[in-house]
Order: sequence, then C-alpha cells, then structure tokens
Amino acid sequence: MVGVTLKGVAKYYGETMAVKDVSFQVGKGELFFLLGPSGCGKTTILRMMAGFLQPDSGSIYFDDRPIDDVPPHRRNTGMVFQNYALWPHMNVAENVAYGLRERKVSRQERELRVGEALETVRMSAFRDRMPNQLSGGQQQRIALARALVIEPDVVLLDEPLSNLDARLRLDMREEIRRIHDETGITMVYVTHDQKEALSMADRMAVMSMGHVQQVGEPRTVYRRPQNRFVAEFVGEANMIAGKLLSLRDGTGVVETALGELQARIAGQSLTPGRPVVCMVRPECLRSGPAALNEIAALVSSSVYLGDVEQYVLAAGQERLLQVRANPAPTPPGPGQEVSVHFRPEDGVILPRED
Ligand code: ATP
Repeated sequence: MVGVTLKGVAKYYGETMAVKDVSFQVGKGELFFLLGPSGCGKTTILRMMAGFLQPDSGSIYFDDRPIDDVPPHRRNTGMVFQNYALWPHMNVAENVAYGLRERKVSRQERELRVGEALETVRMSAFRDRMPNQLSGGQQQRIALARALVIEPDVVLLDEPLSNLDARLRLDMREEIRRIHDETGITMVYVTHDQKEALSMADRMAVMSMGHVQQVGEPRTVYRRPQNRFVAEFVGEANMIAGKLLSLRDGTGVVETALGELQARIAGQSLTPGRPVVCMVRPECLRSGPAALNEIAALVSSSVYLGDVEQYVLAAGQERLLQVRANPAPTPPGPGQEVSVHFRPEDGVILPRED
C-alpha cells in the first residue's frame, strides 16, 4: 500500500491539452476519486499512474519514490476497466490466477491466493465458470479479484460500474467500498457520476478541462464548493446573482434583486463590490418566513416523487429549485405565493465570472 502524489503534471496529445498543472496527493489506504465530465482528463491521469503514458512535465510519486522511469509492470498496480477485460478463453480461476502466473508464483500459493481473492469478492462458487457465463456485475467482481490477487500497492479503477444497470450499480458501490475497507488498499477511482463519488469516496478531486478544481471530502465539496463549476457538477445548485456588500468572519452580505442575502464565503479572496452569486442547494431552501434570507416566490410547478417533492419557484427573474422531504399533505399549487429561506451557513458566495 502506497500514497500517490502528482506534482505539476501535464500531458498533451499533439496540440490537445489533456491535463495541465495537476497536483494532488492520495493518502495511503485511501479510496480517492477523480470526478469530472467526459474529456476532462481523468483517464489520462489514471493511465499516467499506471505507466501506460508518460507526463510531458511534472512527476508522479509512489510514497517518496518518483516513478516516471518505472515501467508499468514494475509499478505493482492493479487495473479495473469499464469493460471488465477478462480473458474469454480462461475460466474464472484462471483469469484471477493470470497475474500470479506472470509473476511466477508457485502453483500451491496461486491456489491459495486465488481462493482468497474470490472469497473477498464473494465469487468462490463461480471459479469454474467461463466469463460469458457470468452477469456484468459478476464479471466486474472477477476483474476486481484479478486486480487484488497480485497484492498491488494501488488499484486503479476506470469507470468500473458504467456498464452495469442502475440497480446493480448501487449494489456494487457498496461492494467496492466494503472490499476497499477490508483490504485497506489505496484505490484511485475514475468516474463522471457525482453520486458514485459522493457516496463512496474518502476524498475526491473534481476536474474540468484538464485542471483540478477542488480536492476534498465529499461533504466539503458538496457543501463548500470553491467555484461555480464544482457547485453545479456535484449537485443541483440555485445561483442567485448579486454584488458583495460586506464580509465579516467568513460570512458575506450580498445585494440581490431578491433582497440582501447572507451566506458563507467560499474561501477565495472576495472583496466588496465584486459581482458574485449566492449558491444554495435545493434541499437547503426551507419553507416559511424567517428573519434572515427570506425570499418571496410563486410556485411555477411541482413534482411529487414519493420521498421528496420538488418545486420550481419563480422569485423575480430567478428560477429556484426547492426539494422538500416529508411533502405536505396539501402542497402549494402553481401560482401560489410562498416564502422560503435558508440559513447563512447553508449558502455559499462564489465569484460570478467562474
Ligand atoms: P472520458 O470520461 O470520456 O473517458 P476523460 O475525462 O477520461 O474522459 P481523457 O480520456 O483523459 O478524458 O481525455 C482528455 C482529453 O484528451 C480529451 O480532450 C480527449 O479528447 C483527449 N485525448 C485522450 N486520448 C487521446 C489520444 N490518444 N489522442 C488525442 N487526444 C486524446
């Protein structure tokens, strides 16, 4: 098990910048996510960690060792791909044993370790099956066993759940998390699915256009995004435009068309007079009047979803989304006037031009 550090890493494909000036640290034993939209450079970073690609500048370290000159097969990484990539002509046990054969591990030890790896992914009963006799979820478990069996320092997972149906994806999230916690292996996991990252990660790096936008724990990234991109990528976000009037102790007052609003400053140096947005998550908009941050609105539409009810509200020129748990028995209908409010600690002030 190792920690992985990237320092100032850049990668170009010809003229195309894939990754630029990327620095972050993955702790030993961490389940670390790279989250971002298609084309933001996540896979490129994973491939550089595996050694299939070389950075154009910067360096990657496993613990304190720079690994730029270490070929892929010496890095002791296990890979798990979206398409499972099992050998179709080998049965489950042979697939899992493959990496051990390559490492010239004795037959007896191979048997033992393949048995343990299959146990870890709960597939012991399937050892004699061929890959085409397995479901997608089962194939992905075998791919995981194959990565784990070599006792890697790091496991790199590239969109491992993308080919599975929705229900199975949810089950496999828990499974991968369990396997991570049981083995304690450092894992770097690439996805574009923010729910996957939020629900599974110890920490995550949110990426856009080759850059890391923010690194942090899921709760921090969701509640305290540092810019508009992160706010909108990790969840639904209401953005109320305004101008920063004043700030004190990390809380700012924003002048908006809906009145003065108070919220937390996101960490970067914002000065009064600056155009900003006040970001509030839909579930942080509470119903009813309040002394602070009250917004008068009209209900435009609502959708009942059983566990929650979603409202689209019109507040002046702003369109706000509100999500209410425990929907009222007689919810307000379209055209009805409502008041909503939010706590200053539930709002974040972000620079507007981001
Ligand atoms: P996805 O989720 O779609 O796989 P990603 O975030 O993993 O996306 P990368 O595959 O790392 O993104 O690609 C980053 C950028 O580099 C993209 O603009 C992509 O088009 C470009 N790119 C990737 N591989 C190559 C290549 N072999 N040759 C040229 N450009 C490439």
